[in-house]
Amino acid sequence: MSRILVAGGAGFVGSHLCAFLLGRGDEVVAVDNLITGRVENLEEFVDDPRFEFVKADVIEEVPVGGPFDSVLNLASPASPKDYFAEPIATLEVGSRGTKNLLDVARAQNARFLMASTSEVYGDPLVHPQTEDYRGNVNPTGVRSVYDEAKRYAEAITASYAREFGVEVRIARIFNTYGPRMRPEDGRVVSTFLTQAARGEPLTVYGDGSQTRSFCYVDDLVAGLVGLLDSDAEGPVNLGNPGEFTIAELAKIVDEMFGPVEIRHEPLPEDDPMQRKPDISRAQKLFGWVPKVELRQGLPPTYDAIRDEVL
Ligand code: NAD
Ligand code: UDP
Repeated sequence: MSRILVAGGAGFVGSHLCAFLLGRGDEVVAVDNLITGRVENLEEFVDDPRFEFVKADVIEEVPVGGPFDSVLNLASPASPKDYFAEPIATLEVGSRGTKNLLDVARAQNARFLMASTSEVYGDPLVHPQTEDYRGNVNPTGVRSVYDEAKRYAEAITASYAREFGVEVRIARIFNTYGPRMRPEDGRVVSTFLTQAARGEPLTVYGDGSQTRSFCYVDDLVAGLVGLLDSDAEGPVNLGNPGEFTIAELAKIVDEMFGPVEIRHEPLPEDDPMQRKPDISRAQKLFGWVPKVELRQGLPPTYDAIRDEVL
């Protein structure tokens, strides 16, 4: 049994992670300022005596007492719509917020896990992306508030390991979906499923030839915990290598939950053209492979969104 601090625990991924950790017997303290998270995400386990929720902004302080065995940093707006709306808060949580959480890990002699992102690869020129690829990020573009914050977060995490001997793990998470995504969060899966539930056209940005690889949240949580418990040094990709164009995703949503029309809208600035993880490191280091295919993961996600929007 461990006592674990989860920053961003009221978010989409964070709440599933809290549930998993409680389920295996850990004590969990979730810290969240609810900028993009929701207390409803905690409903399933909020009364568990091994769970505590602290509303706080980790940019300012982390007002929780130890001891902690692990500190997991998932605090950050994650959807482009969210970080476009909160550019400075996104930069600050990746930088000051990450430093504050690293200081907790250092003081508590706890292991630190950084939830980084495939966005550190920017609009990648290497495909699929391996961890040694250094990326193609526009440092002043609209997405830089997220990409560069996460790159800084990785850099300071690696520095705390070198300078202070903090044990660190870095997960580079690729597009993840599942129940508890906000219907209006702007991400493609939640948006298409919300539109399908309402019988509205699916908004495909650009010609839809850009690709993404979609991981079901339960698989991601298993990967995060596997990484936390492993000896993996250096960044590790976590994602489902199944790659789809956005046009293909729209077609699947139409077939499974439609019929719905498709409406093309302009492609946002610096939108990455392709993305697919090479997960051989995660597989080799802690035997992780995602199990849930897109067509299996979409129905529970759709049901949760439909129940919310209808
Ligand atoms: P989310 O927006 O649902 O969750 C993020 C949580 O962090 C929210 O509850 C939010 O309120 C909280 N938060 C943000 N700023 C904070 C601050 N200053 N202080 C305290 N809490 C703060 O997003 P998510 O999809 O659950 O993502 C979780 C983490 O995983 C993020 O760090 C994100 O960058 C990373 N990630 C997610 C994906 C994905 O596809 N879901 C992909 C790559 C990386
Ligand atoms: N996208 C789209 N329609 C939408 C929302 C997103 O076509 O309503 C596209 C978006 O341009 C991108 C892909 O889907 O190419 C994934 O977008 P998302 O915001 O989910 O994640 P990210 O761009 O961060 O991978």
